[in-house]
Amino acid sequence: MKKGYSIAAVVGLVGLSILLVIIVLVACAPVKLPTWTKSVPTEAMPTLEASPTATADPYSEVRKKMVRDTMRRRDITDEQVLAVMEKVPRHEFVPEEYLNQAYADHPLPIGYGQTISQPYIVALMTQLLKLKQGDKVLEVGTGSGYQAAVLAELTDEVYTVEIIEELAEQAEERLERLGYTNVKVQQADGYYGWEEYAPYDAIIVTCAPDHVPQPLVEQLADGGRLVVPVGPPGSYQTLWQITRQGDEIISKNVTGVIFVPLTGGH
Ligand code: SAH
Repeated sequence: MKKGYSIAAVVGLVGLSILLVIIVLVACAPVKLPTWTKSVPTEAMPTLEASPTATADPYSEVRKKMVRDTMRRRDITDEQVLAVMEKVPRHEFVPEEYLNQAYADHPLPIGYGQTISQPYIVALMTQLLKLKQGDKVLEVGTGSGYQAAVLAELTDEVYTVEIIEELAEQAEERLERLGYTNVKVQQADGYYGWEEYAPYDAIIVTCAPDHVPQPLVEQLADGGRLVVPVGPPGSYQTLWQITRQGDEIISKNVTGVIFVPLTGGH
């Protein structure tokens, strides 16, 4: 009887322990939930990867602010131009030591005594070109390649000429790396335009000649627009918007600007 009792007691104890373990397990089950939630970020990663620009471009907010404060509040009204200025990563076109000023509204040195233009002026000149998809555009003065990238976002054929060989090479590499496959860069004196691909629907000159280069006027298509700063080097120049209508040339004085001079032996 005694032995039978102790067997019953052992069985009872074991049963109780099993019950206790079950109770503990059940009680702990909710505590395990955080482990489940912890695994959520890994599962959510594809969503994060789906918008690489949001994570890869820490400058997107400051770029939006630049467009709002220095362009929208002034006379840049072309929504397509504004959208492109919000998109093109200007910080990729400035030397590393000026990264913190990449979205400030002023020109910055790019070496060889040259500058990347002020963002507002880039937007203004682009707006004056009145580009539409399918237009063929020529730029004189590639510099960093920033203006060329802006143009390349608005149309599908961009040709750009730079007189300084190193700048032409660097800009070509940079534009290729950033995926601007619709831009052709050439090292040459842009005073003479780029005859091979003429006529152009739009021509933009981002250095200042002291007179309107006749070859550029000749390379304008009928209805084509030429935007060019003209004036003496080292002083204010006048920004002109020149339109070709058949044999007629219509010139409009837009504003005063300061550009580096157009050089070369013409
Ligand atoms: N559009 C450029 C601004 C460049 S500054 C940008 O977005 O960064 C003007 C550039 O014109 C300089 O790089 C200068 O070397 C170039 N330049 C000056 N005279 C030139 C000429 N005759 N032909 C082509 N480029 C010229």
